[in-house]
Amino acid sequence: MKKDPEEIWGRCLEVIKDNVSQQSFKTWFEPIQPVKFAANVLTIQVPSQFFYEWLEEHYIDLLKKIIRKEIGADGRLEYSIIMENNYKSANPYTVRVPTSNSREVKNPAVSLPIDVENTPIKNPFIIPGLRKIKIESHLSPHYSFENFIEGDCNRLARSAGFAVAQKPGGTAFNPLLVYGGVGLGKTHLIHAIGLEIKRNHPEKTVLYVSAEKFTQQFIEAVKNNTIGDFQQFYQMMDVLIIDDVQFLSGKEKTQDVFFHIFNHLHQGGKQLVISSDKAPVEMSGMEQRLLSRFKWGLSADLQTPGLETRIAILQKKMYAEGIELPKEVVEYLAYSITTNIRELEGAMISLIAQSSLNKKAVTLELAKQMIDKFVKNTAREVSIDYIQKVVCDYFDLPIELLKSKTRKREVVQARQIAMYFAKKMTKSSLANIGAHCGGKDHATVLHACRTVNNLQETDKQFRGYLEDLEKKLSIH
Ligand code: ADP
Ligand code: MG
Repeated sequence: MKKDPEEIWGRCLEVIKDNVSQQSFKTWFEPIQPVKFAANVLTIQVPSQFFYEWLEEHYIDLLKKIIRKEIGADGRLEYSIIMENNYKSANPYTVRVPTSNSREVKNPAVSLPIDVENTPIKNPFIIPGLRKIKIESHLSPHYSFENFIEGDCNRLARSAGFAVAQKPGGTAFNPLLVYGGVGLGKTHLIHAIGLEIKRNHPEKTVLYVSAEKFTQQFIEAVKNNTIGDFQQFYQMMDVLIIDDVQFLSGKEKTQDVFFHIFNHLHQGGKQLVISSDKAPVEMSGMEQRLLSRFKWGLSADLQTPGLETRIAILQKKMYAEGIELPKEVVEYLAYSITTNIRELEGAMISLIAQSSLNKKAVTLELAKQMIDKFVKNTAREVSIDYIQKVVCDYFDLPIELLKSKTRKREVVQARQIAMYFAKKMTKSSLANIGAHCGGKDHATVLHACRTVNNLQETDKQFRGYLEDLEKKLSIH
């Protein structure tokens, strides 16, 4: 076999190409340089720490598989990272990081409830010939409570989760059901609960599984005639964390087996943590008896985070990645992407990638371009917060005044203009707009829109204001 790093990496790239999107390949794999191959370790050079973490987080399984295939079972990948000082440094230096294998949070070995030696085992979950098995928790250390920013949007869910983690199975919150829209932190929070339980109670067996994987395993078990083993496996847990339980809707057989597992665990004082994209009352295709079980404990929702929380989340992320961004860029991101934290983080990461690959500084201009490119596929609108900020900056008013009830003439006018743009550029209801602008009702907002419309027809200077503002607000 040839020991040339280029040759080996070239073969790896061919496989990678077939497994990732073209865009991802361009962004994340083309910039990689193979630098060394020795003692079964392939060293690749990546442009930044962030780049390395991104690969580890998103492509590690793929990379491991490929390395195993190309180099062999004891093949390893090492990264050499070009460290840059604010993208300006003339002489980059590199650090070496081996691929992490230590990310898995370990469960203790558990005894099997079945007599392994005398049973012909077909259970895919249990390794034959072992009395004790290790069950992987599937918890990601990155999704910890420390990394989970608290805000009004998640306070109840977060504190209930934290309480559960101190006394799993020992609180009224059993099951704990966390629900909320896409990208609002459900998966993160339920991982955090699992991690915190492992920290407080290392002896407990904790398992995180997505409802989708649970379903696949169940289907496999049906095929292999191992439903009993499947059920027994899940009934061994001290803490069972099921993500995206709405996936079970319409799948009666899977719901049925889950119902039995649920009952067994609950009766045994074991903790269940469940996430869903809907409140139990809104879940359709779910058996009534299962829904009624969900209501036994606590359902806590995750709402869309407010502006301050969004900024705090970005700052936390930047801190974790060891990056710095201009304040106006962070604010712009937080103002522009309002309903999905994953998207918010994604935009920031793309921005940094873009800047580090092209060696361009991250400016507001670049941020605007990126946001257009990366977010254009999803419905995005300017937020009321952003409109208020732009209007206040324009008239040089503190934003607090605009949100207050004051009736000073210049504030009233700015507030009416903000309401007008909010009506025009967002999908918010009149009532919601009013609530954002000093607790006004929908009639006041309607009145404001009419006033602004009238004024712009009669007052030239006023129309000038609107045109300026409209330009500032249009993101393109
Ligand atoms: P969901 O499961 O609800 O779709 P995720 O848990 O996957 O959402 O969250 C999406 C991203 O947002 C993750 O990277 C997560 O770390 C991050 N995130 C969500 N909520 C918070 C928070 N309160 N603090 C910090 N990061 C958060
Ligand atoms: Mg999720």
